[in-house]
Amino acid sequence: MKIFHCDHCGQLLFFENSRCVNCGHALAYLPELQRIASLEPTDDGQWRSPLAEAAGREYRLCQNYEDENVCNWAVPADDPHTFCESCRTTLVIPALTVAGHKEAWFQLETAKRRLFYSLMNLGLHVRSRSDDPEHGLGFQFLAADAPGDAPVMTGHDDGLITINLAEADDAKREEARLALGEPYRTVLGHFRHEIGHYFWDRLVKDSADLEDFRALFGDERRDYEAALKEHYAAGVANWQEPNWQENFVSAYASSHPWEDWAETWAHYLHMADALETARACGLTLAPAREDEPSLDAEKIPAAEEATVNEMVRDWVALTYVLNNLNRSLGLSDAYPFVLSPVVIEKLEFVHKLIVKASAAPPVEAEESGLGVAAEPA
Ligand SMILES: [Zn+2]
Ligand SMILES: [Zn+2]
Ligand SMILES: [Zn+2]
Repeated sequence: MKIFHCDHCGQLLFFENSRCVNCGHALAYLPELQRIASLEPTDDGQWRSPLAEAAGREYRLCQNYEDENVCNWAVPADDPHTFCESCRTTLVIPALTVAGHKEAWFQLETAKRRLFYSLMNLGLHVRSRSDDPEHGLGFQFLAADAPGDAPVMTGHDDGLITINLAEADDAKREEARLALGEPYRTVLGHFRHEIGHYFWDRLVKDSADLEDFRALFGDERRDYEAALKEHYAAGVANWQEPNWQENFVSAYASSHPWEDWAETWAHYLHMADALETARACGLTLAPAREDEPSLDAEKIPAAEEATVNEMVRDWVALTYVLNNLNRSLGLSDAYPFVLSPVVIEKLEFVHKLIVKASAAPPVEAEESGLGVAAEPA
């Protein structure tokens, strides 16, 4: 993630801010400029930003910003969509009359916008199901908190991603994490994982890269339901199984090639985003001993220009300091994973496909359900 400042007063901002705490200006994220901008109302009921790059442009607030305050993105005033690129993919939301649902929905949308930021940053623009019923992407946020409700399974099915609202509840998510023996479970992690399944359909399924995929990840025609059943039946024992670390980034990745891909994809997004943050913050590690991990913020390449080896080099240093700091604060490791050579090869494969997709000519991108990346101004 980049670092943002209020263009009105210079205050440091977070990606999630909708108002400057210093000068009180309304703020919105302008996706096509990748900037958070202060906004001023125009005479015709729209919004204008003082940024030079936004000169002559007018904006509307995303409908979820305007009506519900669960979004902080703006939409160009001449865009036919009333929702931003992230919100327009939300097809189903929980009943907001139920206590706690609005807050949980807010959390899910907040994490989803981080996902969309990463995708756009990597040149992967997706289209919503309403714009592209065949290949578009949609989310449904479902709750199963009333007695007799059918359980909600978080997952992906042919472009439709279901997220269990309970994942936004820290206590419930932590309970699931412990019950499943997972070292890491976050809302953003779910989004990054599930979108991986969507991109498998878009980038691998019918592509010339399918055989290479199978050589690395295994044959995905293996019975999926049976594989997951077996994985969940083993429970915590999955993590005690000694050999998965050599070949998989997580125990869950070892359950089926599709899950392996989605887990690897999610880790690629974790890496790309956290490395961008380290770079933007100017994070440099200059240890006294040469054999300790070092990092030079100025030499961290942007994900689209980096090789996977460069990313892994910086990632090892970054996660070493992250984990060490967390331990100093009495917290669990921020990144409790090890990247083996086989996993790095899989990350390389994900990287290659992302670079290829982001460079895809418009027609191909159109057909695959991936929109065309707007040139950053
Ligand atoms: Zn300000
Ligand atoms: Zn929105
Ligand atoms: Zn999955």
